[in-house]
Amino acid sequence: MSEKKVVSETLYDGYAQSFTVTKQLFEVKTEHQYLEIVETPFMGRVMLLDGVVQTTEKDEFIYHEMMVHVPLFAHPNPKRVLIIGGGDGGILREVLRHQNVEHVTQVEIDGSVIDMCKEYFPNHSQGAYDNPRANIVIADGKEFVASCQDKFDVIIADSTDPIGPGEVLFTSDFYADEKNNCLAEGGIMVAQNGVPFMQGDELTNTYQRLGKLYKDASFYVMPVPTYIGGFMSLAWATDDESLRQQTAEQIQARVAGAGFETRYYNADVHVASFALPNYIRNLMK
Ligand code: SAM
Repeated sequence: MSEKKVVSETLYDGYAQSFTVTKQLFEVKTEHQYLEIVETPFMGRVMLLDGVVQTTEKDEFIYHEMMVHVPLFAHPNPKRVLIIGGGDGGILREVLRHQNVEHVTQVEIDGSVIDMCKEYFPNHSQGAYDNPRANIVIADGKEFVASCQDKFDVIIADSTDPIGPGEVLFTSDFYADEKNNCLAEGGIMVAQNGVPFMQGDELTNTYQRLGKLYKDASFYVMPVPTYIGGFMSLAWATDDESLRQQTAEQIQARVAGAGFETRYYNADVHVASFALPNYIRNLMK
């Protein structure tokens, strides 16, 4: 394809973002979804699954840093981490920056996403898939948690939206198996939970489902330009209610000892991200 074309994303009925595509780099119908990687002048390379934007080179750091560093700096001593989804490698990259993490298992349903992102988004994984602390499992996350015999201090669900293969990762059964079979005592689970302004029901459903399982079920937010409609929400659930109440000074003490730089995340942003505007609080019912 040599001429420029404009592509519109298809997640919402009647409202969309569109971007100029200068080159179609890759497309394939995998066993699970339609995978496309395109070159754009503004956001750099963009990956779409079933027509929905998943990640871009330009703003991925906001999403990946917030999904990883909020739970990993909130937890007093995370040693074992489980990632569900996350095939572009950005979550794994950020988790492995924490030197106190001894082991990471990543369960991704679609091996093609990992393979193609290694090739077309090398800065997402930055070699993380070759790290000896990482164990990659190609499987459905729901099936994995149903038979899991391992315990993890932090679980991060970086899934697609609750349509297609990602739908099962938003169900009560998945949340229950995840907690009962996989989460260590005092552990934290976080999950991609959509843009509340656009996907309000998703937030209400998750709140009700997690609220039945955990002493503390809430959300934290971040603005990611790619995920249109304002704040994106991340589900937060743990039985240790003190973890969400930590001050910026307490978080900063851990950040200072970590020995790496971030572009979006810091201790003040960490604490502030739990402050929810009323239109989001009102969806927590
Ligand atoms: N950041 C994106 C967003 O906000 O929508 C999502 C990133 S993308 C890496 C999500 C990944 O979840 C994809 O690689 C997809 O293959 C994977 N996935 C979807 N359903 C899954 C399932 N049931 N089990 C494991 N991985 C799944």
